[in-house]
Amino acid sequence: MNRSKSAALFAEAKQVIPGGVNSPVRAFQSVGGEPLFIDRANGSTLYDVDGNAYIDYVGSWGPMILGHSHPKVVEAVCRAAVLGSSFGAPTALEVALAGMVRQAYPNMEQLRMVSSGTEATMSAIRLARGYTGRDKILKFEGCYHGHADSLLVKAGSGAATFGVPTSPGVPADLARHTLTASYNDLEQVQALTDAHRGDLAAIILEPVAGNMGCVAPLPGFLEGLRELCDSEGIVLIMDEVMTGFRLAYGGAQERFNIRGDLVCLGKIIGGGLPVGAFGGKKEIMQQLAPEGPVYQAGTLSGNPLAMSAGLATLKLLQEPGFYQQLEVKSAYLEAGLREAAEQCSQPTCLQRVGAMFCTYFHPGPVNSFADAAQSDTDAFGRFFRLMLENGVNLAPSQFEAGFMSAAHSQEDLDRTIDAARKAFAAL
Ligand code: PMP
Repeated sequence: MNRSKSAALFAEAKQVIPGGVNSPVRAFQSVGGEPLFIDRANGSTLYDVDGNAYIDYVGSWGPMILGHSHPKVVEAVCRAAVLGSSFGAPTALEVALAGMVRQAYPNMEQLRMVSSGTEATMSAIRLARGYTGRDKILKFEGCYHGHADSLLVKAGSGAATFGVPTSPGVPADLARHTLTASYNDLEQVQALTDAHRGDLAAIILEPVAGNMGCVAPLPGFLEGLRELCDSEGIVLIMDEVMTGFRLAYGGAQERFNIRGDLVCLGKIIGGGLPVGAFGGKKEIMQQLAPEGPVYQAGTLSGNPLAMSAGLATLKLLQEPGFYQQLEVKSAYLEAGLREAAEQCSQPTCLQRVGAMFCTYFHPGPVNSFADAAQSDTDAFGRFFRLMLENGVNLAPSQFEAGFMSAAHSQEDLDRTIDAARKAFAAL
């Protein structure tokens, strides 16, 4: 494939943008090669500036569950743009979207719109701290919750160690308030809550972890966290930025029948425009300014273009059979990829929950970041590049989920499986 225009743009971009990209994983660093510069996208297909077409399983990292440029979403955004793109004042659109979200997530008794997933989780953490009057939080290794300081912390060496910052610029004094545990390890969480009794404001997690591939909660894990939070007065924060409106209309919480005290959303609720939301129990949410003392704000929060895209998207997701069809396609792709992987000289393990999936270059099962980290990332990089050459766009990292959309056709799925067969055999 000729990618000379992408290459020229990347060279130019590196002069004015650090690493040539506005978000690090886009740079292809962990898979080798150079990023595609995108010209346009339609349905399941992405077109780069050189005119190459790719079947897209990134979907802008999750939001494009309807496929790209869905005509009804485009129409809604255009209609809104004509009426004014930002007012910094309340609108009927944001009330309507908040109402729709609350219907799907009844534990979000009240919610606030923000402009990214990072803002949603950062605000939820501050609110949980303000509400409980406690400073410490607990997160899981391999779960990503955006790049706010408190959340950019990886695991310490032992269960009881305090977090160390993953990035320079995060003060160690702040990072020490973030404890980390291994995903799916309830005993470790119990030990940490025992050791820090009365100090923990919140436990935050991805109810299905898509930022280390695709890791499902083991039976009892979510229930155990719920019980622990109830008995210790800890705020349970379900970060459904990725899983919300994807694993079911009501997200992972509907799918696993478990409820957080606070919930973070993003990606799909904005239909591809910059949106996030956080919400939960009224008693907690009422601590927010102007009703309460915990400050949180945003010039573009509730932006009318984003609200319109979100409303149009959620209405389409309510169509009967939407999630069943997504499941059928995802199961078909899973079966095809599994069969294709039999040609691979290396052990692989495909994990899928609904319309999220990941092929690990590791025999599996992968239940934690320690498991995921054993994957052969070089093999993944080679697989990724072969898939790209065969016209399939996967996320450029072993530690990211693939996303199915409603726009993927049977032909797309068969072409993907065929490409995978060739790529696995060539490894
Ligand atoms: N939480 C989760 C679970 C995410 O997957 C992400 C982004 N991938 C975020 C939070 C941060 O969202 P954003 O990139 O919109 O800031």
